[in-house]
Amino acid sequence: MPADALKCKECQTTYPLEARYVCDRCFGPLEVSYTAPASSAEELKRRIQAGPHTLWRYADFLPLEGAARSALPTGWTPLVRADRLAERLGLGEVWVKNETANPTHSFKDRVVSVALARAQELGFETIACASTGNLANAVAAHAAAAGLPAFVLIPADLEEAKILATGAYGATVVAVKGNYDAVNRLCTELAGDRADWAFVNVNVRPYYAEGSKTLGFEVAEQLGWELPDRVVAPVASGSLFTKIARAFEEWIDCGLLEGELPTMNGAQAEGCSPVAQAFAAGTPVCRPVKPDTIAKSLAIGNPADGPYAVELAQKTGGGVDSVTDDEVRAGIRLLAETTGIFTETAGGVTTATLAKLAARGDIDPSERVVLCITGDGLKTIDAVRGTFEVNEIEPRVEAFDAKFAAHAVS
Ligand SMILES: [Zn+2]
Repeated sequence: MPADALKCKECQTTYPLEARYVCDRCFGPLEVSYTAPASSAEELKRRIQAGPHTLWRYADFLPLEGAARSALPTGWTPLVRADRLAERLGLGEVWVKNETANPTHSFKDRVVSVALARAQELGFETIACASTGNLANAVAAHAAAAGLPAFVLIPADLEEAKILATGAYGATVVAVKGNYDAVNRLCTELAGDRADWAFVNVNVRPYYAEGSKTLGFEVAEQLGWELPDRVVAPVASGSLFTKIARAFEEWIDCGLLEGELPTMNGAQAEGCSPVAQAFAAGTPVCRPVKPDTIAKSLAIGNPADGPYAVELAQKTGGGVDSVTDDEVRAGIRLLAETTGIFTETAGGVTTATLAKLAARGDIDPSERVVLCITGDGLKTIDAVRGTFEVNEIEPRVEAFDAKFAAHAVS
C-alpha cells in the first residue's frame, strides 16, 4: 500500500512526502495518504506472516521508500488474556496489549522507529523531540542505536526515572522551565530554524504518527485476524487513539479484516482531561487546560488530535472518560495484582477507565475487550509508594514467626 502524499486532514490539499506537518492553506494537520494496495488480501497476509517479529512486518502499511530494519527492534509485544482482571471487573473477555515489552518500555518505540527511519530517508542527521518522558527515552535510545546525535526537550519537573533513563543513552537532555505545551511550542519554533534537524513529533510528525498504527495491526493479527469489540486506550495528544482505529480501517478496506470498527474508549486523567471534557460537552472543540496530574505522560493540555479523538469516540459508540489520581493509583495496583503487569501512571489511567466502564454497566459480558497498556511502572515508581506495607524484621525465625503468626507452620 504505497504512500503517495501528505494530505491535509481538514481541506484535503496534498503535498509531497517531505518534512512538512501543517497545511499552508488552512493550517490543518497533515497525514500520510496511501494508494490502494496492488496485492490481494491473501498476498498481503502472506507477506506479513513472512516478516520479522517486529513492527516492520507491517512495512507495506508504513510510509517508507525502502526496507527499514531499525537497529533496535520494536513491536510484536504480547497480547495477554487477562481472565483474573476480567473476573474482578465482572467482564467476559479482556486482553492486555503489553507495550512495556518494547525496548524502552513504552509504545513510543513504535512512533520513533518509523519517524527515525523516514528522517534518515529524508537526509536528516540530528534527531530531536518534545517529550513528556516516554518519547524522550525512545528518541535517545533509537538515535543511539542508529549512531545519530539526539536533542531531547522535556518539562523540567518530569519524573527523575525518565530523565535518568534518557541521559544514559548519551542524548543531550534539555529541561525546559515550563509544561509540555511550552516545550512543544519551543520545539515548533526551533524546527523552523534548524532545517537539518528532525523533530520526530513536529516536522516529521505525519510519519511518526503512522507508527502507532502498528499497535492496531498487531492486536488484530494476534486475535487471529479478528477485530476486538472494544478498545480502551489512553488519550494524550489523541494520536495513538485515532491511529489504532485507522489501522483497523485500513485492514477492513483491503480485506484483511471483516466487520465494523470496535467501540473506542479513550482514557484521560481528570487533572488533564480536555478531550474527555469536550466529549462530555458533545463538541469536538477541546478547550486547552493547564495539566495537574500524576499521569505526566498524558499531560498534554492542548491535544493536537483531540477533536479527531472525540469524533472517533462518537462515531463508534464509545466515549472519553477521565479518572482521578487516586483511581490511577488503584488502577496500577489492580492491573499488577491481576495480570502481573506493572504499568506506569498512563496504564493506571487506562485500567481505571476500564474499571469505571465496567462498574457503569457500559460493557456487555459477551464483548472482547482490549486494554492498551502503553508504558512500564518503573518509569513512575512514586505512584505506588505507600500503597502497600513492607514488613521489616530482625534476621531471626522468631521475628518472622511473630510477624506472620497467621502463616505459622502447622
Ligand atoms: Zn488544509
